[in-house]
Amino acid sequence: MKLATALRRHSSRIKQIALMVTALLLLMIFPLSCSKPEGSAEPPAGEDENRGGEQLDAPDEEIDYHALGVNEAGEIMILMYHEIGAPEDIWCRTPDNFRKDLETLYEAGYRLISMNDLLDGKIDLPAGCSPVVLTFDDGRGGQFRYLDEDGKQVIDPDCAVGILEDFHKAHPDFGLAATFYIFYEAPFGQAKHVQQKLSYLVEQGFEIGNHCYSHGNLRRLSPEQARRELALQVKRTQEYLPGYTVRSLALPFGERPAEMSYIIEGSYEGTAYRNEGILLVGANPAPSPFSTTFNPAALPRVRASEMDTAGMGLYDWLERLRDNPERRYISDGDPATVAVPEALSGQVDESRLNGKSLLTY
Ligand SMILES: [Zn+2]
Repeated sequence: MKLATALRRHSSRIKQIALMVTALLLLMIFPLSCSKPEGSAEPPAGEDENRGGEQLDAPDEEIDYHALGVNEAGEIMILMYHEIGAPEDIWCRTPDNFRKDLETLYEAGYRLISMNDLLDGKIDLPAGCSPVVLTFDDGRGGQFRYLDEDGKQVIDPDCAVGILEDFHKAHPDFGLAATFYIFYEAPFGQAKHVQQKLSYLVEQGFEIGNHCYSHGNLRRLSPEQARRELALQVKRTQEYLPGYTVRSLALPFGERPAEMSYIIEGSYEGTAYRNEGILLVGANPAPSPFSTTFNPAALPRVRASEMDTAGMGLYDWLERLRDNPERRYISDGDPATVAVPEALSGQVDESRLNGKSLLTY
């Protein structure tokens, strides 16, 4: 018995050390691009050297757009997850690998924004940071699970919600956002907890998205059947969350009909739906919401996996966007402006600025 306990302790210690080494390695591979490059904090020539640290926090602080590579017409990864659990699979990420994803994104300068914020072009990040959106399909049990601990309900620290909340506690500046694309009858399993879970998610600022009432294949269904699938999901969600607006749809199986008008908007037996954003299954980052190529009715996602990625998984794109930083959305730190390099100003759709001013450099 004693030997078994000692071995268990030993192996968990080894696990901890392995995690620390991984984190250190990641830090070396992905530099902290959110923080300002050393040179940019120096006062311009001829200015007083006496301004010290306060200058860094001044609201009118000069942003070195070139040094940060600011580009708010750049691409944004919308990550697609399904199950969080074991074993690791194409559609299943282990809790430790999900933690590794968050750590890697954080260290590489990514910060969470919600799907609705992406649709609204509401991207409020520090200069030098890049937005990333998390999406979870199918309402799998490992996304949100309650454990019974001495008669008390606690969130499983190994489910997606538990992991996200713990990570956010340790890294408040990472943000806390994700959209759960659920279908019914019992999203996340544990039928008796559906009400509690949906209420909790919305209270914490997470979002609920449409994934059809029963995961129907929208390409194969008649328009009438499709309207039913889309509207019943909204109706049931609003029964749990009165007044809640479901604003986006993740296409089940990634399938869509050629004619999209009734998928984007419609109603069935008195329940209306409007999908302002429609998410595909693969396989590349989405255009900036300010880009001429932004098409909210067909937003590509990146599969957060390391298996069979065919060069299109999360780590493939992290590498590609690191090596081609001009492709990546990099914030200027000012939500009221959309800043892009002069050469890319043609990529901005001014009708999408929504009151923001365009700044070229
Ligand atoms: Zn699905």
